[in-house]
Amino acid sequence: MNRKIIRSDGSIRQHRIRLIVSMICITMLLSIAAMLFLAINQSAASSEYSRMIETDLRNRDDLTKISKNLYNHEEMIFQYIISDNTNWARTRIKEQTAELEEELQETLTEFGNNVTDTEYEQYYLLIDLGTKEYLESVDRVIEFADAEDIASANFYMNSCLNKYIFKINSTITEYEKLMNADVEATRTNMLHKTARASQTTAAGITLVVLFSALSMFTCGKVSRNLLNKDSLTCADNFEYFQKLCGSLAKSGHFSDYTCVFCNIRDFRFYNSKYGYKAGDQVLTEFADHIRDFLVKGEHFARDGGDSFLLLISSDREDQFISHMKDIKIDILERSDQLQVYCGLYRIQENDVPGDAFAACTLALSSARKSTSDSFIRYDPEMFTEIDSRMDTLYLCNQGLKNGEFLVYYQPKVNIENNTLCGCEALVRWMHDGELIPPGKFISILEENGNISALDFYVFRRVCSDIAEWNRKGITPVRVSSNFSKVHLKDPDFADKIIEIIDEYGIDPKYVEVELTESSAYDDFASLAEFVNVMKSKGIFTSMDDFGTGYSSLSMLRDLDVDVIKIDKSFIDDLDRENNPNKKMIGTIVRMIHDLEREVICEGIETKEQVEFLKQIHCFAAQGYLYDTPLPHDEFEKRLNDPVYSNK
Ligand code: C2E
Ligand code: MG
Ligand code: MG
Repeated sequence: MNRKIIRSDGSIRQHRIRLIVSMICITMLLSIAAMLFLAINQSAASSEYSRMIETDLRNRDDLTKISKNLYNHEEMIFQYIISDNTNWARTRIKEQTAELEEELQETLTEFGNNVTDTEYEQYYLLIDLGTKEYLESVDRVIEFADAEDIASANFYMNSCLNKYIFKINSTITEYEKLMNADVEATRTNMLHKTARASQTTAAGITLVVLFSALSMFTCGKVSRNLLNKDSLTCADNFEYFQKLCGSLAKSGHFSDYTCVFCNIRDFRFYNSKYGYKAGDQVLTEFADHIRDFLVKGEHFARDGGDSFLLLISSDREDQFISHMKDIKIDILERSDQLQVYCGLYRIQENDVPGDAFAACTLALSSARKSTSDSFIRYDPEMFTEIDSRMDTLYLCNQGLKNGEFLVYYQPKVNIENNTLCGCEALVRWMHDGELIPPGKFISILEENGNISALDFYVFRRVCSDIAEWNRKGITPVRVSSNFSKVHLKDPDFADKIIEIIDEYGIDPKYVEVELTESSAYDDFASLAEFVNVMKSKGIFTSMDDFGTGYSSLSMLRDLDVDVIKIDKSFIDDLDRENNPNKKMIGTIVRMIHDLEREVICEGIETKEQVEFLKQIHCFAAQGYLYDTPLPHDEFEKRLNDPVYSNK
């Protein structure tokens, strides 16, 4: 399986910044390296050149000195021969020759050191030889002069001393020529090197600039890619997916696709049971499974959580469904079958991305609710339904403002003495001359969180009616009001109820809060806390529709509600032979009594049901047999006449 998982602990933006900074650093390092390369090359070439010039100058000095000393010396000997052939002059020549020898030695040694192991060493050897020959010849010349053989001395001087000086000077000239050529070559070489270094550096800098531009471009591209990706699954992100759909729509190819919206059933379970790491693993494996299906030109994106959107070729819908039906994932070394539900929508000509997403979302919503099919294709009816739900929601809100909601009261009866013992407030919506029952709008309001306003509207009416009956001298009964369980998420729920009771100045003994039994009491602690607060204020609480949900008997024991309302469905069909409910209700009622709670049965429609209730010692009933939910005024009459004499 191809796993390209990019994990970033930080955000993609941070990743991008890190990438740019690293690219800039690399660029700077390359620039510095290029500069160093230039500097080293230039300084190597120029220092070689200057070293050469320096040595050459010293050598030339030495050679000039040698040459000059020899000329001076020869001149002195010449003078001696032709004019000053005295003892004093002879002594001076000897001294001068010794000095010359010393100086020549010194100068030649220095020159020799400078040219050792170079091609110039031969010149040193020649000059050294020449000076030695000169000095030897000097002795011969002086000998002839001493012997006053001036002709031989002259001849010897011209033929030997001059010859050696000439030889030495020629050697020096040769040396200088070669040296000049060398210096010139070195200079040229240096210039070439500098030029080459400059060229190399220029090329380097050009490369660096190109590299920087390329890296910026790549970096931009990479980071753009990263920005387009979901960091966990490496799927596209929704923003990018939207853009992609937009361009496909523009190019006229959008309708080649089917848009799919996928969710993992009970994904939260993986997070809560195995932890978020395992949850992440599920998501990446799920994404990989989708990726395995896709072919060129098909796309998928993660829209946060476990929501995935796909664009698949419209002729591959069936293939896709069978691929998605078979997902096994490994979590914590355990293989699990993943349940997936998807909404599919075949994109139509002229659809914009929003149309496709909306249709997919509706289909997904049906797939989520469906127990038989997890892969649902969009049906235009879905839009009509949602439209009507949206309309209902809007109209309900308007209705609340316009006071279109009415409170009906359904009596609760003590079946031992057939007397009114309480009532339940049930809302009705008078809209456009039609009385709409709560079943048509409560769930819509619950889904959208607007139920709170309605419940408190009803509760206010109830409190206000109780206060009014009190004022009128009519003894009220305890009135139960229905509150959706969504209120339990509101930490001020109990306070709000207490405040309203105080506001209307009624006795809390007339107030009962009905909460529906459900397995969905995620937070049992807050429910129990609410019940306890109500109890502490003398307000009654009841558990509605008992038997329809999944609450356990232990919950009944732990939750200190005052009243248990057994749901109508338990009472229906009691006449049926061997109906197991009969025994069950009997047992439940006994248990409720043992727990010292009140019990009432809803939906009582027949005398037989009443007889049965009496048998099992359930003495409170609510149902059409006694009364349907009554409008305010009619119920007021019932308050004034609380005995059901005909029952
Ligand atoms: P519920 O609280 O269980 O109310 C009892 C429902 O059973 C009422 O339906 C009532 O009219 C009906 N009923 C009573 N006796 C009989 C009978 O003998 N036979 C039959 N077939 N039905 C009977 P209704 O008024 O349509 O209310 C339906 C549900 O709507 C209520 O069930 C309650 O859960 C909810 N509801 C009503 N008013 C409110 C409200 O103000 N707030 C909230 N949150 N929910 C409300
Ligand atoms: Mg109720
Ligand atoms: Mg009920």
